[in-house]
Amino acid sequence: MTTRSHAAVIFDVDGPLLDLTPPEEDAVFVPFTELYGLQEQSRDWDSYRVRNDVEIFREILERHLDRLPTDDELNATSSRYFEVLSNSIEVGVASVTEIPGARMLLEQLSGHGGIALGTATANFREAARIRLERVGMWDFVKAYPGAADDGGPKRDVLARVVEDLGLPRERIVFLGDNLNDLDAGQACGVHFIGFHTDPARQRRLADAGAAVTCGDHETSWKIISEMLGLKVN
Ligand SMILES: [Mg+2]
Repeated sequence: MTTRSHAAVIFDVDGPLLDLTPPEEDAVFVPFTELYGLQEQSRDWDSYRVRNDVEIFREILERHLDRLPTDDELNATSSRYFEVLSNSIEVGVASVTEIPGARMLLEQLSGHGGIALGTATANFREAARIRLERVGMWDFVKAYPGAADDGGPKRDVLARVVEDLGLPRERIVFLGDNLNDLDAGQACGVHFIGFHTDPARQRRLADAGAAVTCGDHETSWKIISEMLGLKVN
């Protein structure tokens, strides 16, 4: 028998749960160099047509090939990225860095009962799995692993998770650190918490219309409890 969830908390991965480090970012670009000899792709994710890893891979290949890449070409590139990422973490070139208190927040939420947990990341699901598993967080969020794989901007990624959850919008909280996360939260009509450890980036989210922002997970827990009316002692 399964207990039906009465609420859900969905996380953007980079920012609220993990800090994306430069060596992890390096892994994204290795396949383009190895397979196509390409150097110096932009690391400004907002400079691409759609801030979503699948779309970014497609755009880089399309620019280089001067045609749409085939599914095989895309799969070969992303598979190599997962291998490089996994290997970099394994040998210690890259280390997955948890945002302080993130794992504890996931434990608190999952221990509370009846709260579904998941992600809405613009990263590939497999890359998110590799990184979150490394720091013991994947099991908490794997039931609703919203990711870039089916394409589209963040609002589409979140919309797919919201649909899977089948809960009223006011029973769903989404934490994100970027303006596209705010847009996604607003478009989906769920509670949004603008989470950033940098106060200046919190202000940017607030200025753009985020009603609630915070920068540490003790505060996240309090805000989530209030938003969902959780009984806490
Ligand atoms: Mg983020």
